Amino acid sequence: MEIQGLRRRPRRLMLVPCAMQGHINPMIQLGTILHSKGCFSSITVAHTQLNSPSDHTSSHPYFIFQPLLSSDDSSLSSGTDFIDQLSNLNSNCEAPLQELLIQIVKNLEQHEDLPCVIYDPLMYYVKSVADHLKLPSIMFRTSCVTNMLSWYVCPRIKKQGYTPFRDFKSLELVPGLDPLRFKDLPILPSIFENLDAYLQLVTSVQNIGTSSAIIFNSMDCLEQSSLARLQQECQIPIFAIGPMHKLAPEATSISLHEEDRSCITWLDKQATNSVIYVSLGSIASVNEKEIAEMAWGLANSNQPFLWVIRPGLVCGSESKDPLFLPDDFKQTVGERGCIVKWAPQKQVLAHKAVGGFWSHCGWNSTVESISVGVPVICKPFFGDQQINTRYISHVWRVGIELENDFEREDVERAIRRLMVENEGEEMRQRAADLKLKTEFCIQKGSSSYNSLNDLVELIKSV
Ligand code: UDP
Repeated sequence: MEIQGLRRRPRRLMLVPCAMQGHINPMIQLGTILHSKGCFSSITVAHTQLNSPSDHTSSHPYFIFQPLLSSDDSSLSSGTDFIDQLSNLNSNCEAPLQELLIQIVKNLEQHEDLPCVIYDPLMYYVKSVADHLKLPSIMFRTSCVTNMLSWYVCPRIKKQGYTPFRDFKSLELVPGLDPLRFKDLPILPSIFENLDAYLQLVTSVQNIGTSSAIIFNSMDCLEQSSLARLQQECQIPIFAIGPMHKLAPEATSISLHEEDRSCITWLDKQATNSVIYVSLGSIASVNEKEIAEMAWGLANSNQPFLWVIRPGLVCGSESKDPLFLPDDFKQTVGERGCIVKWAPQKQVLAHKAVGGFWSHCGWNSTVESISVGVPVICKPFFGDQQINTRYISHVWRVGIELENDFEREDVERAIRRLMVENEGEEMRQRAADLKLKTEFCIQKGSSSYNSLNDLVELIKSV
């Protein structure tokens, strides 16, 4: 506990996640990992939207949960006004967080150091609050390293007048971001309509300012070159500590939806590697025609499937039962299909019956499938999902991209390629190799293990 001859003082941690499932999960995992190190006097989770925080208190007794807003003011959903919603959330949370931190600092024991704040950069107001109160802060980015790298490179090449930026389908390689093509960048046509607001958001989110470090739920074996390139761009330490759910296997998810565990009983009855698990994450949505094409593609593939249709997956379906589907589809698939509103995904992916994952390729889903060696059919929607798809299909070669719009024939074909044909078997083999590499990353002395220890030392000393 000695640093430069001084006795280290205990330190409290404050975690500030963003109110989206794919952002809450890794933040809770990181908090659990840091708690397991046993060197922080308390860990507070300052949150906006969570389901019944009282339940979380019992499943995570080592966290103090502190709501910042009433639940009506705090939810975030996808859609064209996402940037506006995010900016409102950022303005509304600033005063409550500042008040909370002032109270925490006032109540510090004499022997305690100032608290350290770990925040999701989508909650960029946290940075200003921490800076204002002169508290150390650390950014935790829940997407891949390559995504952040692209945010550095893109504005630069845009300034140089690169025209493919306006062609969202351009297959030209992005200078400095090989193997990404312009098509893979997280810049959507809808964003171009509101480019100024988007660039302002990028600047706010990107702003590392006086942050002491950046954390990623990633691994050397997945993104070594992007990590090295990003480290050249940023002057502060970057820690790739993943897969976090493997480092914190006991971290119970804080699910914004109720998990339906009956699907595990259904999986128990299926043959090894026979089931395609289908989930498009917590935000992406499809229209009624697309859901019908998905349904008939799955039905016609003749493979068993486990399909998550969460409330809101089909645009405009929030108020009706999301498991509505035509009777002739239900009769065709019978017991071969299991449909739930929300699944215990990590457990599903680790089940021996699951041989493939049709995913929107959010970063958590990507890391979760890679760490159990399940190959992927990629159908990205927005944000970093296209980047993850490029890496899955082109760099790690553990999946295929469903390129066109949803058409049942394409869906059926992709499922057969992955689940039945040799091509899929080869991907499964590569996925198994990659799984071993991710397991190695968390072994004593390996990259994620060392990064975690370095991070803990940094937090203790900032
Ligand atoms: N998830 C889950 N059950 C489901 C679907 C998703 O537990 O039925 C979890 C999944 O394990 C992952 C998160 O929700 O941790 C989704 O995060 P991701 O980054 O993949 O996508 P996002 O939802 O942010 O688009």
